Amino acid sequence: MGEMGIIYDKKDKFLAAGFFDPDSPIRLRILHAGKPTNIDAAWWTERLESAVARRAPLFDHQTTGFRWINGENDGWPGLVLDRYADTLVLKLYTAAWLPRLREITGLIRQRLQAHRIVLRLSRNIQETVLREWRKNDGEILYGPPLEQPIIFLETGLQFEADVLRGQKTGFFLDQRENRRKVGSRARGRSVLNAFSFTGGFSLYAAKGGAASITDLDISRHALEGGRRNFQLNESIPEIARCRRTEIKADAFEWLNENSKKRFGLIILDPPSLAKRESERAGAIEAYTHLASAGIAHLEPGGLLVACSCSAHVSALEFFESVRRAASKSRRRFSELETTGHAPDHPATFEEANYLKAAYLGF
Ligand code: SAH
Repeated sequence: MGEMGIIYDKKDKFLAAGFFDPDSPIRLRILHAGKPTNIDAAWWTERLESAVARRAPLFDHQTTGFRWINGENDGWPGLVLDRYADTLVLKLYTAAWLPRLREITGLIRQRLQAHRIVLRLSRNIQETVLREWRKNDGEILYGPPLEQPIIFLETGLQFEADVLRGQKTGFFLDQRENRRKVGSRARGRSVLNAFSFTGGFSLYAAKGGAASITDLDISRHALEGGRRNFQLNESIPEIARCRRTEIKADAFEWLNENSKKRFGLIILDPPSLAKRESERAGAIEAYTHLASAGIAHLEPGGLLVACSCSAHVSALEFFESVRRAASKSRRRFSELETTGHAPDHPATFEEANYLKAAYLGF
């Protein structure tokens, strides 16, 4: 596990080097391709520097939660590094990093001056890593213990992140740009944030002057987080003024069962509807269904923001599915814009391109 594997061509010429990952269908996690090179401390330092250089111009002191390293797309296969204020969260998707964990953590600590580093492990490697490396998901690799959620800033708004147990690394950092756009389109509107999680979109909408917010999620825990995030930002007058309602329900069912309710802006950001390739066709249909249900709840002049995080559904397939729903509604609509990945979540190959959103005005 984690040994370096080298690929040669038929004539024994060097092609690429990477981590051998015997437990994964991705048997070799490519680190370097092209000419032979030394993968040593200097090489790792340079790789970290290029990831840092990419983000440095993107954020000021108003945003202290973002992604420093986005796995393969930054040349760190199966490794994600997120920042939440002065805590860094290192999430591993392959156990092949474990033999180098100390070296990598040392490097990161030194370069990014972390107060604390938390280790997160994707579910499929937790058992192996505990058995063979005695490391747990949510373990603090460096720095003081953590009893409470971290509070960090995004575009000047305060948010909580449960970095020890929360989904992903504690927050959906990948939606920041869409949240900003929603904020700028929310003035005066009544907003339904379906699949709200901890109210990321809602806070931007409220700050942007929304008249009211309805957070709809199946998880009580998520809704409670949303309530606390609102309280955290009450010093912002627009947020203090905005009416907030919570609905704990299955969003698909709620939309079908409450046909009389109307909103001026509806955000649909469901969890991935296609976890594997075989679910792709069903997911495309489900996206059309969901968008149709959303559109039915829009008042005249309303705005729909439909998102998809399914890697197995392409941007084109998703946008088509939303357009199909819009056409079926027989209402006049215009496509205002479509968006893809946030700049701190670059996607350099097709399969990494999971996030897309469509903005439709009715
Ligand atoms: N928009 C959020 C992220 C959404 S994550 C943000 O910007 O932070 C997806 C959310 O959908 C999770 O909070 C999960 O609890 C919720 N969820 C999953 N299935 C659901 C369902 N059937 N109905 C309502 N919410 C659901």
